[in-house]
Amino acid sequence: MTRPDSATTDSQRDLGGIDWILECSGCSRAGDPEGLPTVCPDCGQPWLVRYPERRHPLDAREPGEAPPGSSRKRPTPHGMWRHQRFLPVAPNEAPITLGEGNTPLLDLPRTARDLGLGQVWLKDESLNPTGSFKARGLAMAVTRAVAAGAERFVIPTAGNAGVALAAYAARAACQATVFAPTSTPRTILAQIEGFGGELRLIEGHIGDCGRAARELSAQTGAFDVSTLREPYRIEGKKTLGLEIAEQLGWTLPDAIVYPAGGGTGLIGMWLAFQQLLAAGWVTGKPPRLFAVQSAGCAPVVRAVEAAADQCEPWAEPWTIASGLRVPNPLGGRLMLRAIRETGGGAVAVSDEELAEQARIGSRREGVDLSPEGGATLAGAARLRARGSLAPDDRVVLFNTGAGWLYR
Ligand SMILES: *Cc1c(COP(=O)(O)O)cnc(C)c1O
Repeated sequence: MTRPDSATTDSQRDLGGIDWILECSGCSRAGDPEGLPTVCPDCGQPWLVRYPERRHPLDAREPGEAPPGSSRKRPTPHGMWRHQRFLPVAPNEAPITLGEGNTPLLDLPRTARDLGLGQVWLKDESLNPTGSFKARGLAMAVTRAVAAGAERFVIPTAGNAGVALAAYAARAACQATVFAPTSTPRTILAQIEGFGGELRLIEGHIGDCGRAARELSAQTGAFDVSTLREPYRIEGKKTLGLEIAEQLGWTLPDAIVYPAGGGTGLIGMWLAFQQLLAAGWVTGKPPRLFAVQSAGCAPVVRAVEAAADQCEPWAEPWTIASGLRVPNPLGGRLMLRAIRETGGGAVAVSDEELAEQARIGSRREGVDLSPEGGATLAGAARLRARGSLAPDDRVVLFNTGAGWLYR
């Protein structure tokens, strides 16, 4: 799996490339960021990436074009790579990209009025390559893994992560095997195959696909890029939080409502706000983070309601919002910490409600809402009704993927 003469890693070292470290989110032990890290060997919890302070000088806050005559030898970074000071890439490293990130933060005055909220924005992630925000995480993970010599990948997916891996693996001239439930929407399965992913259907849910992926990884050496089993997908998702702060003029919203499955977006944004606050790029309090799940698979909601610090596996998970069908998230502890530490919460909505809100919201706003996007609208209404969101809160909602993928 690792190329014998690992030239990429050496040239990175010449450039002082890897200047970050890994820290276990469970037991805080330090880990080696080089090569193909998985989870902490001591406690099995995910790694988090930590950066040196000098990475984030205040005067770097306005990411402009490179001035004329500047010595930059590559094109100006675009999309999420404009924030590479906060990402695990070296300054001169070329990321594997399809143009992910820099999605619109749309002002939704009519939705705000209907919800009884002062200000509501929608981060529309359906405009990413491959139609969902999974592009951010997989662009980052594939970039790092290829730099470390990976040539073959495997992923368990509820759908969109498989599309994204297939596309970024194609871009990197690597092979991708995707384990997906038979119940995955047909269009998503067609997209996986369209990008040349080797599709293997599993009778079951993403947890069952995860077992199959780990077996294949053990047999063939394919690198397993399951949610939080490698440390770099959340770093890509972190750019959600960086962009929200940037798009709000380096201020933070009061609350964020996010449709949580494996939790990479929620955890990524939590890290983004911590890092922006520590660097002094923004001031004030981090936004309250709210997770929305489907009533048919709501391990995070149940754990929040029980004031537990870890999720219990959800038996017989089912929801049409396939991205939320994650019965036993590896990032459960981290999601619960992010929610607790920011004073957020969690709420479950029925499949009927989320489907209806996706329909209503698409017609009202002209945005192609996925069922998961509908879940954030339905969740925001419930959070407003129970007083978790106040009338004058500035709130960001998420459309994490495109509705057309589910047809
Ligand atoms: C994967 C996915 C989610 C859940 O994201 P996590 O980072 O796993 O919490 C939500 N919506 C869509 C459309 C997805 O593809």
